[in-house]
Amino acid sequence: MRGRPQKKVRSLISIALVILTITSLTFSYFPKESTAAQIDFSALYPDTVFRNGSQTTQPVVALTFDDGPDPRYTSQILDVLKKYDAKGTFFVIGDKAKNDPDILQRMEEEGHVIANHTTSHIRISKTDSSEVLQEVVDTDDIIFNAVQKTPLFFRPPFGELTIETVTSLQAADKKIILWSIDTEDWKERPADDIVATVKKDIEPGAIILMHDGGELSQDLQNTVKALDQLLQDLSTDYDFVTVEELLNEKAYIENETA
Ligand SMILES: [Zn+2]
Repeated sequence: MRGRPQKKVRSLISIALVILTITSLTFSYFPKESTAAQIDFSALYPDTVFRNGSQTTQPVVALTFDDGPDPRYTSQILDVLKKYDAKGTFFVIGDKAKNDPDILQRMEEEGHVIANHTTSHIRISKTDSSEVLQEVVDTDDIIFNAVQKTPLFFRPPFGELTIETVTSLQAADKKIILWSIDTEDWKERPADDIVATVKKDIEPGAIILMHDGGELSQDLQNTVKALDQLLQDLSTDYDFVTVEELLNEKAYIENETA
């Protein structure tokens, strides 16, 4: 086993917990479910919460894949990305990632970015902020154990956020990555529909939400097919880059020693 990584992160999380306490007192009049539906967090916290790379005018977009790794689909997704020399950002679930460190190593070796999507895909609006932060720390550890890097990008399951969670993650230097194009691929839509959704809304700086994993009953074969079609049709007009490159924000804590 490799050493535990992150003294720095742990102290940041401690600071975060203090700030969390202060903000929960300050914002206690906010309803518990003050989620993304009611508050535009990317407008409130423009340096922490991102829906897209709105600063860029270059023809670059970011493909993002949630809820993996999944032994059925993740390697297929990686094969398609490789075929077109496209890069992606994978928001992994800790409980799945800990069983499959090899696929995280492959992501890393092939130039993709690995990011945090909690340990158990919790509903942030219905969970105490301290528990949310614990899932973030645990998933950071799992990712570190696989690739010796601690991620700075976090995506909340279901896009749910609360003021308390955002301020705590902000204090821990995390960047919260939402999306500008939702392919709704998890609904097992036909590949042509997924492709059409992206083509309709694609623009420089877009962050595209897709899935490389899901429940056992989830069939994501249409996602694999749609990804191939998208890259075939759009690679001449757009560069498919990581969120790190799109936002010019660091994907991992620097200067860590394994
Ligand atoms: Zn998810």
